Amino acid sequence: MESTTNNAITIEKAQNSKIAEVDFDNLAFGSVFSDHMLVCDYRNGAWETPKIIPYGPISLMPSAKIFHYGQSIFEGMKAYKDNKDDIFLFRPADNHKRFNISASRMAMPEVPVEHFIEGLKALLTLDKAWIPQTEGSAMYIRPFMFASGEGFHASPADAYKFMVCLAPSGPYFAGKVKVLIEEKYSRSANGGVGYAKTGGNYAGQFHPTQLAKEKGYHQVIWTDDHNHENIEEAGAMNIFVRIGDTLITGPTSDRILNGITRKSVLEIAAAEGIKTEVRTLTVTELVAAAKAGTLKEMFGTGTAAVISPISTFGYRATDYQLPDLENSYADRFKKSITDIQYNRSEDTFGWRVKL
Ligand SMILES: *Cc1c(COP(=O)(O)O)cnc(C)c1O
Repeated sequence: MESTTNNAITIEKAQNSKIAEVDFDNLAFGSVFSDHMLVCDYRNGAWETPKIIPYGPISLMPSAKIFHYGQSIFEGMKAYKDNKDDIFLFRPADNHKRFNISASRMAMPEVPVEHFIEGLKALLTLDKAWIPQTEGSAMYIRPFMFASGEGFHASPADAYKFMVCLAPSGPYFAGKVKVLIEEKYSRSANGGVGYAKTGGNYAGQFHPTQLAKEKGYHQVIWTDDHNHENIEEAGAMNIFVRIGDTLITGPTSDRILNGITRKSVLEIAAAEGIKTEVRTLTVTELVAAAKAGTLKEMFGTGTAAVISPISTFGYRATDYQLPDLENSYADRFKKSITDIQYNRSEDTFGWRVKL
Protein backbone atom coordinates (compact mmCIF):
# COMPACT_ATOMS: atom_id res chain seq x y z
CA MET A 1 0.00 0.00 0.00
CA GLU A 2 1.20 3.47 -0.87
CA SER A 3 2.16 5.45 2.21
CA THR A 4 3.23 9.10 2.25
CA THR A 5 3.57 11.86 4.79
CA ASN A 6 2.00 15.25 4.14
CA ASN A 7 2.31 18.09 6.67
CA ALA A 8 2.76 15.66 9.54
CA ILE A 9 -0.24 13.60 8.44
CA THR A 10 0.47 10.05 7.35
CA ILE A 11 -1.52 8.95 4.30
CA GLU A 12 -2.24 5.36 3.36
CA LYS A 13 -4.25 5.26 0.16
CA ALA A 14 -7.07 2.83 -0.56
CA GLN A 15 -6.12 0.25 -3.19
CA ASN A 16 -9.46 0.41 -4.94
CA SER A 17 -11.79 3.38 -5.05
CA LYS A 18 -15.51 2.73 -4.49
CA ILE A 19 -16.48 5.92 -6.32
CA ALA A 20 -17.76 4.14 -9.45
CA GLU A 21 -20.45 2.41 -7.33
CA VAL A 22 -22.01 5.71 -6.25
CA ASP A 23 -25.00 7.30 -7.95
CA PHE A 24 -24.19 10.97 -7.42
CA ASP A 25 -27.55 12.09 -8.83
CA ASN A 26 -29.53 10.26 -6.14
CA LEU A 27 -27.57 10.77 -2.96
CA ALA A 28 -29.36 10.44 0.35
CA PHE A 29 -28.09 12.30 3.40
CA GLY A 30 -25.06 10.84 5.19
CA SER A 31 -25.32 7.25 4.05
CA VAL A 32 -22.48 6.85 1.53
CA PHE A 33 -18.88 7.32 2.68
CA SER A 34 -15.79 8.30 0.75
CA ASP A 35 -12.68 6.15 0.30
CA HIS A 36 -10.70 7.50 3.24
CA MET A 37 -10.99 8.62 6.85
CA LEU A 38 -8.77 10.45 9.29
CA VAL A 39 -7.82 8.84 12.60
CA CYS A 40 -5.79 10.34 15.40
CA ASP A 41 -5.14 8.75 18.79
CA TYR A 42 -4.71 10.51 22.10
CA ARG A 43 -2.58 8.52 24.52
CA ASN A 44 -0.38 9.32 27.52
CA GLY A 45 -1.59 12.89 27.59
CA ALA A 46 -0.75 13.75 23.97
CA TRP A 47 -2.12 13.54 20.44
CA GLU A 48 -0.21 11.24 18.11
CA THR A 49 0.35 11.87 14.38
CA PRO A 50 -2.97 11.89 12.47
CA LYS A 51 -3.33 9.20 9.83
CA ILE A 52 -5.50 9.10 6.75
CA ILE A 53 -6.38 5.49 5.99
CA PRO A 54 -8.97 3.64 3.88
CA TYR A 55 -12.54 4.00 5.23
CA GLY A 56 -13.40 0.85 7.15
CA PRO A 57 -14.08 -0.82 10.50
CA ILE A 58 -12.10 0.12 13.58
CA SER A 59 -11.30 -2.12 16.49
CA LEU A 60 -12.05 -1.27 20.14
CA MET A 61 -12.00 -3.13 23.44
CA PRO A 62 -15.45 -3.99 24.91
CA SER A 63 -14.41 -2.04 28.01
CA ALA A 64 -13.76 1.16 26.00
CA LYS A 65 -15.54 3.90 27.92
CA ILE A 66 -17.50 5.15 24.92
CA PHE A 67 -19.69 2.03 25.24
CA HIS A 68 -20.44 2.53 28.92
CA TYR A 69 -20.39 6.22 29.69
CA GLY A 70 -20.99 7.80 26.31
CA GLN A 71 -18.00 10.11 26.25
CA SER A 72 -18.37 11.20 22.64
CA ILE A 73 -18.73 14.41 20.67
CA PHE A 74 -19.10 15.38 17.02
CA GLU A 75 -19.41 18.24 14.57
CA GLY A 76 -21.34 18.62 11.33
CA MET A 77 -19.84 20.65 8.48
CA LYS A 78 -19.95 20.71 4.70
CA ALA A 79 -17.60 21.24 1.76
CA TYR A 80 -19.13 22.85 -1.33
CA LYS A 81 -17.92 22.55 -4.93
CA ASP A 82 -18.55 25.43 -7.34
CA ASN A 83 -18.90 25.12 -11.13
CA LYS A 84 -15.13 25.56 -11.58
CA ASP A 85 -14.37 22.60 -9.26
CA ASP A 86 -13.11 24.88 -6.51
CA ILE A 87 -13.93 23.66 -3.00
CA PHE A 88 -15.09 25.82 -0.10
CA LEU A 89 -15.75 25.43 3.60
CA PHE A 90 -18.18 27.62 5.54
CA ARG A 91 -16.92 29.19 8.80
CA PRO A 92 -14.84 26.10 9.70
CA ALA A 93 -13.00 27.81 12.56
CA ASP A 94 -16.35 28.09 14.36
CA ASN A 95 -16.87 24.33 14.15
CA HIS A 96 -13.40 23.73 15.53
CA LYS A 97 -14.04 26.12 18.38
CA ARG A 98 -17.41 24.51 19.21
CA PHE A 99 -15.86 21.03 19.03
CA ASN A 100 -13.44 21.99 21.77
CA ILE A 101 -16.24 23.56 23.83
CA SER A 102 -18.07 20.21 23.60
CA ALA A 103 -14.81 18.38 24.45
CA SER A 104 -14.25 20.41 27.55
CA ARG A 105 -17.85 19.85 28.78
CA MET A 106 -17.41 16.09 28.38
CA ALA A 107 -14.00 16.09 30.12
CA MET A 108 -12.22 15.17 26.88
CA PRO A 109 -8.96 16.61 25.51
CA GLU A 110 -9.16 19.50 23.05
CA VAL A 111 -8.17 18.78 19.46
CA PRO A 112 -5.57 21.18 18.03
CA VAL A 113 -6.21 23.15 14.85
CA GLU A 114 -3.46 21.24 12.95
CA HIS A 115 -5.39 18.01 13.48
CA PHE A 116 -8.94 19.30 13.11
CA ILE A 117 -8.74 21.89 10.30
CA GLU A 118 -5.60 20.67 8.55
CA GLY A 119 -6.73 17.08 9.00
CA LEU A 120 -10.10 17.53 7.34
CA LYS A 121 -8.56 19.67 4.59
CA ALA A 122 -6.04 16.91 3.79
CA LEU A 123 -8.84 14.33 3.76
CA LEU A 124 -11.01 16.49 1.48
CA THR A 125 -8.08 17.06 -0.85
CA LEU A 126 -7.49 13.33 -1.13
CA ASP A 127 -11.20 12.53 -1.68
CA LYS A 128 -11.93 15.64 -3.76
CA ALA A 129 -13.53 13.64 -6.58
CA TRP A 130 -16.21 12.53 -4.09
CA ILE A 131 -17.48 16.06 -3.47
CA PRO A 132 -20.78 16.30 -5.33
CA GLN A 133 -21.55 19.22 -7.60
CA THR A 134 -25.28 18.88 -8.25
CA GLU A 135 -27.59 21.58 -6.85
CA GLY A 136 -28.16 21.28 -3.10
CA SER A 137 -25.58 18.50 -2.74
CA ALA A 138 -22.39 18.83 -0.73
CA MET A 139 -19.80 16.79 1.10
CA TYR A 140 -21.01 16.35 4.65
CA ILE A 141 -18.01 16.31 6.99
CA ARG A 142 -18.29 14.49 10.29
CA PRO A 143 -15.44 15.12 12.75
CA PHE A 144 -15.93 13.15 15.97
CA MET A 145 -14.11 11.98 19.07
CA PHE A 146 -14.82 9.23 21.58
CA ALA A 147 -13.32 7.53 24.62
CA SER A 148 -11.29 4.54 23.43
CA GLY A 149 -9.55 4.05 26.80
CA GLU A 150 -10.61 1.04 28.86
CA GLY A 151 -12.23 0.66 32.25
CA PHE A 152 -15.55 0.18 34.02
CA HIS A 153 -14.81 2.95 36.46
CA ALA A 154 -17.17 5.89 35.82
CA SER A 155 -14.46 8.47 35.17
CA PRO A 156 -12.92 10.04 32.06
CA ALA A 157 -10.95 7.69 29.83
CA ASP A 158 -7.19 7.93 29.43
CA ALA A 159 -7.30 7.45 25.65
CA TYR A 160 -9.42 8.95 22.87
CA LYS A 161 -9.80 8.69 19.12
CA PHE A 162 -10.43 11.74 16.96
CA MET A 163 -11.74 10.86 13.51
CA VAL A 164 -13.14 12.53 10.41
CA CYS A 165 -15.37 10.78 7.87
CA LEU A 166 -16.86 12.22 4.70
CA ALA A 167 -20.33 11.54 3.31
CA PRO A 168 -21.29 12.96 -0.10
CA SER A 169 -24.88 14.00 0.45
CA GLY A 170 -27.94 15.20 -1.40
CA PRO A 171 -30.34 17.84 -0.05
CA TYR A 172 -31.42 17.04 3.53
CA PHE A 173 -35.15 17.61 3.45
CA ALA A 174 -37.64 17.89 0.68
CA GLY A 175 -40.59 20.03 1.61
CA LYS A 176 -41.97 21.64 4.71
CA VAL A 177 -42.25 19.90 8.05
CA LYS A 178 -45.04 19.43 10.53
CA VAL A 179 -43.86 19.80 14.12
CA LEU A 180 -45.27 19.03 17.56
CA ILE A 181 -44.64 21.22 20.59
CA GLU A 182 -43.25 18.87 23.23
CA GLU A 183 -44.62 19.20 26.74
CA LYS A 184 -43.45 16.04 28.48
CA TYR A 185 -39.87 15.27 27.48
CA SER A 186 -36.90 17.66 27.58
CA ARG A 187 -33.83 17.87 25.40
CA SER A 188 -31.72 19.87 27.81
CA ALA A 189 -31.65 21.61 31.16
CA ASN A 190 -29.77 24.39 32.92
CA GLY A 191 -26.33 23.14 33.88
CA GLY A 192 -26.70 20.23 31.46
CA VAL A 193 -25.07 19.37 28.15
CA GLY A 194 -27.59 20.80 25.66
CA TYR A 195 -25.01 23.18 24.20
CA ALA A 196 -22.55 20.35 23.49
CA LYS A 197 -22.77 18.11 20.44
CA THR A 198 -22.49 14.93 22.50
CA GLY A 199 -24.01 11.60 21.51
CA GLY A 200 -26.52 11.15 24.34
CA ASN A 201 -28.21 14.45 23.54
CA TYR A 202 -29.40 12.97 20.27
CA ALA A 203 -30.16 9.44 21.51
CA GLY A 204 -32.39 11.05 24.15
CA GLN A 205 -34.43 12.74 21.41
CA PHE A 206 -35.17 9.59 19.45
CA HIS A 207 -37.97 8.25 21.66
CA PRO A 208 -40.00 11.50 21.96
CA THR A 209 -39.51 12.05 18.21
CA GLN A 210 -40.79 8.52 17.48
CA LEU A 211 -43.90 9.27 19.56
CA ALA A 212 -44.46 12.50 17.62
CA LYS A 213 -44.05 10.58 14.35
CA GLU A 214 -46.71 8.09 15.43
CA LYS A 215 -49.04 11.08 15.76
CA GLY A 216 -48.23 12.23 12.23
CA TYR A 217 -45.57 14.88 12.92
CA HIS A 218 -42.04 14.93 11.51
CA GLN A 219 -40.25 16.55 14.40
CA VAL A 220 -40.68 17.97 17.91
CA ILE A 221 -40.22 21.54 19.08
CA TRP A 222 -38.31 21.48 22.34
CA THR A 223 -39.50 23.71 25.13
CA ASP A 224 -37.81 24.51 28.45
CA ASP A 225 -37.59 21.63 30.92
CA HIS A 226 -39.13 23.68 33.71
CA ASN A 227 -42.56 24.81 32.46
CA HIS A 228 -42.50 23.67 28.81
CA GLU A 229 -43.45 27.22 27.96
CA ASN A 230 -40.39 28.68 26.22
CA ILE A 231 -39.61 27.63 22.65
CA GLU A 232 -36.04 26.37 22.43
CA GLU A 233 -35.10 24.25 19.40
CA ALA A 234 -36.64 22.34 16.49
CA GLY A 235 -35.27 18.79 16.73
CA ALA A 236 -31.51 19.16 16.29
CA MET A 237 -31.91 22.61 14.72
CA ASN A 238 -32.20 26.11 16.06
CA ILE A 239 -35.62 27.69 15.58
CA PHE A 240 -36.75 31.03 14.18
CA VAL A 241 -40.27 32.45 14.33
CA ARG A 242 -41.46 35.38 12.22
CA ILE A 243 -44.26 37.41 13.75
CA GLY A 244 -45.28 40.31 11.54
CA ASP A 245 -41.97 41.26 9.94
CA THR A 246 -39.85 40.55 13.02
CA LEU A 247 -37.72 37.46 13.24
CA ILE A 248 -37.39 35.98 16.73
CA THR A 249 -35.00 33.32 18.06
CA GLY A 250 -34.09 32.32 21.60
CA PRO A 251 -30.79 33.31 23.19
CA THR A 252 -28.11 30.58 23.25
CA SER A 253 -27.52 29.10 26.67
CA ASP A 254 -26.71 25.82 28.43
CA ARG A 255 -29.89 24.55 26.80
CA ILE A 256 -29.79 26.05 23.31
CA LEU A 257 -26.92 25.08 21.04
CA ASN A 258 -24.94 27.90 19.45
CA GLY A 259 -25.66 27.10 15.81
CA ILE A 260 -23.46 28.56 13.08
CA THR A 261 -26.42 28.72 10.68
CA ARG A 262 -28.43 30.51 13.41
CA LYS A 263 -25.82 33.19 13.85
CA SER A 264 -25.34 33.52 10.08
CA VAL A 265 -29.10 34.15 9.69
CA LEU A 266 -28.93 36.83 12.39
CA GLU A 267 -25.95 38.50 10.70
CA ILE A 268 -27.55 38.42 7.24
CA ALA A 269 -30.82 39.78 8.67
CA ALA A 270 -28.90 42.67 10.26
CA ALA A 271 -27.16 43.42 6.95
CA GLU A 272 -30.45 43.30 5.03
CA GLY A 273 -32.34 45.47 7.51
CA ILE A 274 -34.66 42.68 8.70
CA LYS A 275 -35.67 43.29 12.30
CA THR A 276 -34.57 40.52 14.67
CA GLU A 277 -35.12 39.90 18.35
CA VAL A 278 -32.99 37.45 20.31
CA ARG A 279 -35.25 36.72 23.22
CA THR A 280 -37.38 34.06 24.82
CA LEU A 281 -40.56 33.35 22.87
CA THR A 282 -43.33 31.56 24.74
CA VAL A 283 -45.79 29.02 23.40
CA THR A 284 -48.59 31.34 24.60
CA GLU A 285 -47.25 34.13 22.40
CA LEU A 286 -46.82 31.76 19.44
CA VAL A 287 -50.39 30.45 19.70
CA ALA A 288 -51.77 33.99 20.13
CA ALA A 289 -49.88 35.12 16.99
CA ALA A 290 -51.19 32.10 15.06
CA LYS A 291 -54.76 32.94 16.11
CA ALA A 292 -54.32 36.64 15.32
CA GLY A 293 -52.89 35.87 11.88
CA THR A 294 -49.58 37.65 12.63
CA LEU A 295 -47.57 34.41 12.66
CA LYS A 296 -45.94 34.37 9.22
CA GLU A 297 -43.15 31.80 9.33
CA MET A 298 -41.33 29.26 11.43
CA PHE A 299 -38.15 27.50 10.35
CA GLY A 300 -35.30 25.45 11.70
CA THR A 301 -31.65 26.23 10.92
CA GLY A 302 -28.67 23.87 10.78
CA THR A 303 -25.79 22.81 8.56
CA ALA A 304 -27.54 19.73 7.17
CA ALA A 305 -30.79 21.35 5.95
CA VAL A 306 -29.60 25.01 6.05
CA ILE A 307 -33.20 26.24 6.47
CA SER A 308 -36.08 23.85 7.11
CA PRO A 309 -39.46 25.60 6.79
CA ILE A 310 -42.32 24.51 9.04
CA SER A 311 -45.82 24.19 7.58
CA THR A 312 -47.78 23.32 10.73
CA PHE A 313 -47.26 23.16 14.47
CA GLY A 314 -49.31 21.01 16.81
CA TYR A 315 -50.06 22.07 20.37
CA ARG A 316 -52.44 20.35 22.78
CA ALA A 317 -54.36 18.48 20.10
CA THR A 318 -54.77 21.51 17.82
CA ASP A 319 -52.84 21.99 14.59
CA TYR A 320 -51.96 25.53 13.57
CA GLN A 321 -51.26 26.09 9.88
CA LEU A 322 -48.67 28.57 8.68
CA PRO A 323 -49.35 30.62 5.55
CA ASP A 324 -47.56 29.84 2.27
CA LEU A 325 -45.69 33.06 1.59
CA GLU A 326 -44.14 34.39 -1.58
CA ASN A 327 -40.61 35.66 -1.00
CA SER A 328 -40.44 34.20 2.51
CA TYR A 329 -37.59 34.99 4.87
CA ALA A 330 -36.83 31.25 4.84
CA ASP A 331 -36.30 31.30 1.05
CA ARG A 332 -34.30 34.52 1.21
CA PHE A 333 -31.95 33.26 3.93
CA LYS A 334 -31.52 29.92 2.25
CA LYS A 335 -30.53 31.66 -0.98
CA SER A 336 -28.18 34.15 0.71
CA ILE A 337 -26.40 31.42 2.69
CA THR A 338 -26.13 28.86 -0.11
CA ASP A 339 -24.99 31.53 -2.59
CA ILE A 340 -22.08 32.27 -0.25
CA GLN A 341 -21.39 28.58 0.40
CA TYR A 342 -21.33 27.62 -3.31
CA ASN A 343 -19.32 30.70 -4.33
CA ARG A 344 -22.22 32.19 -6.32
CA SER A 345 -22.12 35.55 -4.57
CA GLU A 346 -19.60 37.92 -3.08
CA ASP A 347 -18.78 36.90 0.48
CA THR A 348 -19.01 40.24 2.26
CA PHE A 349 -18.90 38.53 5.66
CA GLY A 350 -15.65 36.61 5.08
CA TRP A 351 -17.26 33.23 5.85
CA ARG A 352 -16.03 31.22 2.88
CA VAL A 353 -12.71 29.39 3.15
CA LYS A 354 -11.19 28.01 -0.03
CA LEU A 355 -9.63 24.57 0.21
C1 LIG B 1 -25.79 21.12 15.34
C2 LIG B 1 -27.00 21.64 15.99
C3 LIG B 1 -27.63 22.83 15.59
C4 LIG B 1 -27.23 23.59 14.35
O1 LIG B 1 -25.92 24.05 14.36
P1 LIG B 1 -25.23 24.50 13.00
O2 LIG B 1 -23.90 24.99 13.44
O3 LIG B 1 -26.07 25.57 12.42
O4 LIG B 1 -25.15 23.30 12.12
C5 LIG B 1 -28.71 23.29 16.32
N1 LIG B 1 -29.18 22.61 17.39
C6 LIG B 1 -28.62 21.45 17.80
C7 LIG B 1 -29.18 20.75 18.97
C8 LIG B 1 -27.52 20.92 17.11
O5 LIG B 1 -26.99 19.78 17.50
